[in-house]
This record gives sequence, structure tokens and C-alpha cells, in this order.
Amino acid sequence: MGMLDLRFDNAFVRGLPGDPGHGTRPRQVTGALYSLLDPVPVSAPAMLAYSVDAADLLDLAGADLAAPEAAQVFGGNALLPGMQPYAANYGGHQFGGWAGQLGDGRALTLGEVINRAGERWELQLKGSGPTPYSRGADGRAVLRSSIREFLCSEAMHHLGVPTTRALCLVGTGEQVERDMFYDGHPASEPGAIVCRLAPSFIRFGSFELPASRGDVALLRQLADFTIRRDFPELGGSGEARYAEWFAQVCERTARMVAQWMRVGFVHGVMNTDNMSILGLTMDYGPYGWVDDYDPGWTPNTTDARHRRYCFGRQHDVAWWNLGCLAGALSPLLASTAPLEAGLNRYVEAYAAAERGHVAAKLGLAAC
Ligand code: AMP
Ligand code: MG
Repeated sequence: MGMLDLRFDNAFVRGLPGDPGHGTRPRQVTGALYSLLDPVPVSAPAMLAYSVDAADLLDLAGADLAAPEAAQVFGGNALLPGMQPYAANYGGHQFGGWAGQLGDGRALTLGEVINRAGERWELQLKGSGPTPYSRGADGRAVLRSSIREFLCSEAMHHLGVPTTRALCLVGTGEQVERDMFYDGHPASEPGAIVCRLAPSFIRFGSFELPASRGDVALLRQLADFTIRRDFPELGGSGEARYAEWFAQVCERTARMVAQWMRVGFVHGVMNTDNMSILGLTMDYGPYGWVDDYDPGWTPNTTDARHRRYCFGRQHDVAWWNLGCLAGALSPLLASTAPLEAGLNRYVEAYAAAERGHVAAKLGLAAC
């Protein structure tokens, strides 16, 4: 099977309202969850690396990604039949404060592939050019941070940590200007684009944005869509179904953070716009790995003073973030008690996962 045989089923675009506006003019987008928009072509796309394991998720072989057409598609210069690129609209709490509308400022979903096994894999480019959500930034990514995302997300998967995957890394042949050491000395660096994969890139902030605007109809539409597409195993109806869904998001998030602690991973930017509704590690930025056991350590130099997102606080921060999600979902329920019950499921699931990991490290059946 080759790239042209990929079968797209773009449920997000089909089932949810989009922005009536066009182009990349920065704007507040209300009543809509995405803006349709093509990637901005690059001058000399070159395939630098690909993951054969990730390609296999799409029923593709390494040779498909090594072919010249793949660099064109994953560099953003060509679309495959069935692709419908869009930038998602979402908000988020950043470093403890509500930041309003954020959105995909440099990422674009290309479409949702259904593989032979019937699994859904959303393809997303990161670094594909400006969008209405770029807020004056260039929409691009540098090679060094793209290598870090490509390598680490695949490594995390193979370490057994729930994560988005990385299909390939394309050099753009263009330069990007960045202040690498944040010291007022910007320099040009090579640009790159990572293609990442996940069943869904919906974030906590995707729900927070319509909730913050009092748009309960849109909030409900997104919640119903997410449950139907991404949590098909959930039974029940009405409020009980929302409550059980939230509890499952809490449990998945608990298991993800417990895995981070097991392997010494520090995400570094646990803002709610970087929290996946599927409990997947996502948006690899200034992440790092602890060397010595130091709960206060953070790899994020912009967080060095407050250490909000340091190693030892990740479990508390995830709980705080789930509290933000609970607040956003509260208009869907008559009382907050079911959401509080969901948060308790976080505490229980985290404790159970942590006990299990410690027991496994010590070679014990349980502890
Ligand atoms: P992050 O902390 O990397 O998850 O990014 C936070 C927000 O800033 C998201 O809305 C990103 O899309 C946006 N952003 C980050 N870098 C860029 C960039 N170079 N150009 C446009 N938007 C960006
Ligand atoms: Mg982000």
C-alpha cells in the first residue's frame, strides 16, 4: 500500500463547525473549533528521518516515506487526495493563569487516516507556517526542537509511556530566526517540520475556550463528538455519560503522569493547552530527563524561578489541570459532585499506578 492509498475520514471537519473566515489574518474565532487552511510551501523539503514503526500504523513502509513525494507532502508542499488541512482553535491556562484563545499557531492537521485495522490516526504537521492563531509569530519550528520531538515521542512510546507518535522529520531548506539562549541575540537556524500522529489532538483547552465564552452549545457539541469518536466504549447517556467520560480522562491522565515519574520525564510546560484529552504525552518542548533524583528540577529555563512544572510537582499540576477541565465541563452537569468523583478517580488511579511501578521495579508482585 502506498501513500496514495491512504483512506481519510475527516470526522472533526465533517462533524464540527469551522471558521467562516479565510486566510491567516490574526483573529478571535468564535463559534468554531478550527480554521481550514493549507500549509505554506517550503523551498527545499528533504526527508531527514522517519519512524518505520509509526509508518506501520498507517500501513505504510519505510520506502513510502523515503520516496520524494513524501518530502513534498510532509514538508507541506503537496496534499494527498482526501486531506482537509485545518488549524484547531483552543484556549488554555498557561502557568496558572487563563490565557484566552491560543490555537494551532504553527501546527496543522492534514486529516484522519483509517488504517486496515480500522484505527484512526490523525496526521498533524508542526512547523507548517502561520495560521490565524500565530499571534504574530512565524508558524515555523527549528530543526533542533523538531529532532527533539521526533526522537523523544518515539522513545517514550517504546518506553511504554502513552504519547503522540512521530511519523517523520522533514528539513524545509529555509532558515528560521530564534533567540536560542533568550539573551537578545537571535540567530538563523535551519527549519524543519515534524509529522505527528495521534487518534486525536483534542486538548483540555479545546473545551475551556467555548466554556470561557459561555458557548455551552459548542462545548456540548465538542464533548458529544469527543465521546462518540474517541471514547466509543463509553455507555450510558446524558449526565452520567459525561461524568464517566471525565473520570476516564482523569484515570488516563493519572496513568500518563505516573509513567513520566517512573522514567524520570519532565514535560516542562504542563499548560492546559498541552494536555491531551486521551491522556497522551503531547507538545514536546523544553522537556528533559532527571539525572539525579531531584523533585525540584525543571528543564524549562522560563520556569526556573517558580518551578511550577518541575519533576516533583507534575502529579499535583495534572490534578490542577483536570480541575480546569472540570470547571469547563461543569455547564453540562446539574451539580459538580460527579466531577469531584472523577477527580477522586485521578487520586486513586495515580496511587495504584505508582504502587504498581514501584513494585515492578523491586520485582514484587504488589506493594
Ligand atoms: P507551546 O507552548 O509550544 O505549546 O505553544 C503555545 C502556543 O504558542 C500555541 O498556541 C502555539 O501554536 C503557539 N506557538 C508557539 N510557537 C509558535 C511559532 N513559532 N509560531 C506561531 N505560533 C507559535
Ligand atoms: Mg502547545
